[in-house]
Amino acid sequence: MSEVIVRFPPSPTGYLHIGGARTAIFNWLFARKHKGKFILRIEDTDAERSTKESIQGIIDGLTWLGIDWDEGPYFQSEFAQEHKEVAHKLLQEGKAYRCFCTREELESKRKQALKEKRDIKYDGTCRNLSPEEIASKEAQGLPYVVRFKVPERQGKIGYDDKVLGRIEKDYSEIEDFVIMRSNGKPLYLLCNVVDDIRDRITHIIRGQDHMSNTIRQILLYEALGATPPVFAHMPLTLDLQKRKISKRTHGEVVSVQWYREMGFIPWALVNFLVLLGWNPGTDQEIFSRDELIQAFSLERINKSNSIFNYRKGDPKFFTDPKAININAHYLRTMPIEEIAQMIKEDFIKEGLWNEAYEGDKKQWFLSTLDLIRSRFHTLKDFARQGRAYFADDFEIEPKALKKNVLKRPELKELLPELSLSLEKVEPWNLETTEDAVRKFAEERALKAGIIINGMRAILTGQLKGPGIFDVMVAIGKERVIKRLKNTPELFESAEKKDS
Ligand code: GLU
Repeated sequence: MSEVIVRFPPSPTGYLHIGGARTAIFNWLFARKHKGKFILRIEDTDAERSTKESIQGIIDGLTWLGIDWDEGPYFQSEFAQEHKEVAHKLLQEGKAYRCFCTREELESKRKQALKEKRDIKYDGTCRNLSPEEIASKEAQGLPYVVRFKVPERQGKIGYDDKVLGRIEKDYSEIEDFVIMRSNGKPLYLLCNVVDDIRDRITHIIRGQDHMSNTIRQILLYEALGATPPVFAHMPLTLDLQKRKISKRTHGEVVSVQWYREMGFIPWALVNFLVLLGWNPGTDQEIFSRDELIQAFSLERINKSNSIFNYRKGDPKFFTDPKAININAHYLRTMPIEEIAQMIKEDFIKEGLWNEAYEGDKKQWFLSTLDLIRSRFHTLKDFARQGRAYFADDFEIEPKALKKNVLKRPELKELLPELSLSLEKVEPWNLETTEDAVRKFAEERALKAGIIINGMRAILTGQLKGPGIFDVMVAIGKERVIKRLKNTPELFESAEKKDS
């Protein structure tokens, strides 16, 4: 195979959608696999709907995901002159023609055809106008569009879609389609082909929603004397009700930026999106960058639509549970130094950052992150559920407070008492803290579990978490003692609230 060149050509009219990101990822994987080129081309011909923010959002989103491009970004609008020239060239070569039919005429013909149950495609009224007729209409200043002259051929035109197999259409079913509007602006369908030819694109990997264009585009390639690229049309992503996922219906959950804000690890999102539309043929779900590049092939892109399993309104399932699980997997297994880098910004924002975490407290910081991550799902959980490890101003989860503290009134006195025995513990480590707590429970014929659960709530604010002695060591002697001493106040303020 000659060099593979693929492209991602988003229209910058909104945020980077996860469906768009998936298209970019598939193209990127294919380019990387074949040591080819991945081009970013911004299709900003629609000047009214394209925005600078959207372009920036696309670039930031791809960069965050780690999807790097080899050329571009190119901007389609910069080639407007070339698009026009190509339309005129097709006119001059007799491969396209001026159509003077008015909107009203076309509409009434369409209605008539519908009524008579005939084909509604354009009837070719202007296809064979004589040069004199054309000249006279032009002289009258009548507006016209330019239509492509579909070759008069018998049989079918088709292509071998890498995902869907052979796709064909009868020539007789293809109407002479418009390639330039009456305002002189070429249509997207044509610009896209002109750009792909200039960029020497070898493979077009895009959503099935573009399939309605493909046959017509193949005709344009032929008319322009170029070989059409290989096409691979990917399945769409639908929700549980089989609707296309969109911001309007589903909200932020469809935008890449949102995953960033929710504390996703970029590669985890890539991994999830790839599985949403492609399968390795095995049960493997977690792929490193190299593994994915190695395993990826167009042939294994799914033919049928993917289901984005999202239940709006359920905070536990703030996105597809599979995405959450994949993210949790990376969060719990990645080198802890990388996690530390990724949460730094959030820690600064939440007032939890300490310069020493990169200095003499680095070891403590990393081992604490490592200790608490095993139950976490997103990077945000470190500052949220893990706050008690890094600051004193944290809240105790109401459920933990009620169940493990307030329902055990004996703790009001026991825990401050325990804190007195703990003051004598030296050195402060896993064994010594465990000994002290167990001995304390034994002496009073108490179940250690009651003390431990109460301590967990008071020390970490959480119902569940790492082993209590690990917690005690991570939080440190001074803080543990202070928090346990404070137990009576928790009871008192709960009583106040109740009265
Ligand atoms: N600009 C088109 C879009 O954003 C891309 C079409 C294509 O891939 O050919 O959907």
